[in-house]
Amino acid sequence: MNAPDAIVAMRTVCHFVDGRRVIGRSGRYADVFDPNTGDVQAKVPLASAEEVDDAVRSAIAAQPAWAAVNPQRRARVMFEFKRLIELHMDELAALLSSEHGKVIADAKGDIQRGLEVIEFVCGIPHLLKGEYTQGAGGGIDVYSMRQPLGVVAGITPFNFPAMIPLWMMGPAIASGNAFILKPSERDPSTSVRLAELLIEAGLPPGVLNVVHGDKNCVEAILHHPQIKAVSFVGSSDIAQSVFQQAGASGKRVQAMGGAKNHGIVMPDADLDQAVADIIGAAYGSAGERCMALPVVVPVGEQTAVMLRARLIAAIKALKIGASTDPSVHYGPVISAAHKARIENYIRIGVEEGAELVLDGRGFSLAGHERGFFIGPSLFDHVKPVMKSYQEEIFGPVLQMVRAQTFDEALQLASKHPYGNGVAIFTRNGDAAREFADRVEVGMVGINVPIPVPVAYHSFGGWKRSGFGDLNQYGMDGVRFYTRTKTVTQRWPRGGPVTDQSFIIPTLR
Ligand code: NAD
Repeated sequence: MNAPDAIVAMRTVCHFVDGRRVIGRSGRYADVFDPNTGDVQAKVPLASAEEVDDAVRSAIAAQPAWAAVNPQRRARVMFEFKRLIELHMDELAALLSSEHGKVIADAKGDIQRGLEVIEFVCGIPHLLKGEYTQGAGGGIDVYSMRQPLGVVAGITPFNFPAMIPLWMMGPAIASGNAFILKPSERDPSTSVRLAELLIEAGLPPGVLNVVHGDKNCVEAILHHPQIKAVSFVGSSDIAQSVFQQAGASGKRVQAMGGAKNHGIVMPDADLDQAVADIIGAAYGSAGERCMALPVVVPVGEQTAVMLRARLIAAIKALKIGASTDPSVHYGPVISAAHKARIENYIRIGVEEGAELVLDGRGFSLAGHERGFFIGPSLFDHVKPVMKSYQEEIFGPVLQMVRAQTFDEALQLASKHPYGNGVAIFTRNGDAAREFADRVEVGMVGINVPIPVPVAYHSFGGWKRSGFGDLNQYGMDGVRFYTRTKTVTQRWPRGGPVTDQSFIIPTLR
């Protein structure tokens, strides 16, 4: 078969505009792999600036009528969307897992955490209520309201193909905006299926459009004059660039970046529980979570010795395999390029002088020899100056950095360039409270390894993990996708006309 025939025979992912699947016109495509086999399973079109513009024009046409739908009716669409996601959970999880490589149970967790944000925005009539002051001055009342921005956009990473699009589209759409989603081109199909379900739930066509693409498509979004806000989640360098470019175009922007989360293990911790938690958080989803725990910090030599022995035993018991196998702990990573990048960081760690206790390189799964699998690695005696510690690896690699005191452990997490999440394992409430108070990190777990906040709080890291001042979902999500208008009103009562005043009105 020659190359053009091969393309015709292959599944081609579509954009989703105006309530239907639309074939890409740019002539540019990216490969979508099956990470279990290493084969290309589909082609995804990479949208041109004109195709982004088509999606924006469809959104502009649909948004005013959607904003005029009363909030309770918008909430009913969200209730129905929730029901449809639950109904299609197995299908969505299989689709997501087939492109991402996370195991099916974890794919369901990905969808469930996004679904919880949809549940939160089912309360949108209450969340959008403004404020009212009666009698702020003589016969004067003041009220404020939250109004949608218009057309807004979200750009999402590969590692949570359902949760993060749902974090964004839920509050954006429930608040009365039209939303343009640019999902990761590496696992694009779940977004299209979610968009279809939202239309089936009663969303008018055009209120949610999905365009696939790479840098060109992202730049068309960042510079499009009709897009009022951009939410981004991805790696830090790109998050920072998106923050700067979208800000320079006058848009509201929030941009979440990478992570290097620390798990501090105090001498009084319940070690067996801490090890179980750390193993799941370090190696679950092959370490491809922004709230993974890739760094463990035992406090005191005795803690380090005991922790190391338990970690080694637990890591040796891990089962790696195809994402469709319900008995495995984690599946393949997203791509051959990402696998090579992770292996390169392991090589760097060795060259820097860290002790590679367990080496996951060279892992091969019988029958899946070309799949993107990588075994679990463990480093000990990692030092803060090392490049492999300073940078995000985003794979099944756990690095142990030994600290002698609580303060040293606290400073490690606080001084690291990333500040997404952190966890402390201890039985001492006083130490835990002080840690939570002082640590320079956005999300803290106390005996909780992956402290992703529930849907009615909000998600956001500090330092290079988050650019912008509003978090994802919760009330911050509603604030990000709305703007406040404040009305000061006085009604004519008749009677004498008051004198002209050239002084700014005050309440003396
Ligand atoms: P990525 O930065 O490569 O891609 C994110 C998005 O940006 C994708 O939609 C991609 O198409 C687009 N993109 C890629 N290159 C671009 C460029 N040069 N210019 C403009 N846009 C570009 O991230 P990824 O590999 O898909 O996801 C993993 C990263 O995301 C990790 O760093 C992880 O920590 C981070 N992440 C952060 C959070 C958080 O909330 N802080 C959550 C999940 C993932």
